[in-house]
Amino acid sequence: MAIEFSDKIRRLPVYPTAGGYALDGFAMLASNEAPFGPMPGVVEAATEAVVHANRYPDPSNLRLRRALAARYDFDPSRIAIGAGSCDILLSAAEALLEPGAEVVYSWPSFSVYPQMAAAAGARAIVVPLDDEQRHDLDAMLAEITAATRLVLVCNPNNPTGTALPLERITEFVTRVPKHVCVIVDEAYCEFSTLEDPDASIDLARRFPNVVLLRTFSKVYGLAGLRVGYALCGDQRFRVAVEQVRQPFFCNAVGQAAAEAALLRQDELTRRIEETIANRLELEEGLRELGLEVAESHANFIWHSLGDGDEQEILEGLRERRVLIRSGRALGREGWARTTIGTATDNRRFLDALGELLG
Ligand SMILES: *Cc1c(COP(=O)(O)O)cnc(C)c1O
Repeated sequence: MAIEFSDKIRRLPVYPTAGGYALDGFAMLASNEAPFGPMPGVVEAATEAVVHANRYPDPSNLRLRRALAARYDFDPSRIAIGAGSCDILLSAAEALLEPGAEVVYSWPSFSVYPQMAAAAGARAIVVPLDDEQRHDLDAMLAEITAATRLVLVCNPNNPTGTALPLERITEFVTRVPKHVCVIVDEAYCEFSTLEDPDASIDLARRFPNVVLLRTFSKVYGLAGLRVGYALCGDQRFRVAVEQVRQPFFCNAVGQAAAEAALLRQDELTRRIEETIANRLELEEGLRELGLEVAESHANFIWHSLGDGDEQEILEGLRERRVLIRSGRALGREGWARTTIGTATDNRRFLDALGELLG
């Protein structure tokens, strides 16, 4: 006899993780990480935290919440911290969803969203992106019923990189019933040229049902330490997601590193500018290869692979020590998602892809 698992284990999809972490010398363009190391001062702050590793981390994440509150001029009691923002997403699923409840999201979008419904036994209502591969907010609105508890809007969207202007999101939120939680996943908002990343904060100030989800994993370059945060329209959201988690969900090193990283907004701006410059170059390179490119407002590009076979191209890239993300795994066969790396990585990728496409 083998041990028996819960029904949830049969329901849960397997998250399409990237490989390559055990390899050396690869251009790692599959996971939207920053190609930069931690910002100045971050390693020192993290090291100092390690010295006190005999103590549990602060379960209230107070210092980090205060630092975020100061950065955004936002009520610290309405800031939730997570072991990465995925931790907050999965906790939100647990806190908001249950059998009989519905969650509405777009597709292709972030691979964690399908997990949320499955984990909670709720119904996923999946709305296709529009012709420009952007969220179709009217279609999403039309799917909201009495059973809807949660709507997820990924802006800019992963994996397409497309974004909607704040004006559209605001209008959407105005029309969503007040008892339905709207999580706007802004993991990539810093890379958008549509909007100042501080502009959307107002949504969480004005609408108690809105949660803005952000992370230290992308632009801040701390993916390995797992820290994310949410700016919540209502303090009760923070309390609920804390209620469903273990008390020490965010480790001390991550908290200290995130707090130090926040102080370096100058370096942040420099990195954003460099990423956007590299994005333009990469987009141009892909277009020169005759490929279709979605309009990116993120640190990655969603592009077609021409007439080539997706699997063969990905395998060919791998042989040339370049890893990108397969579109098939993300919801659109024949396309791929490529992270903006260093100028050298991007060149290596374009050269390899050029060779493979002949
Ligand atoms: C990367 C990403 C996140 C952040 O994940 P972390 O758990 O904070 O590392 C959240 N949402 C989207 C859409 C992402 O792509």
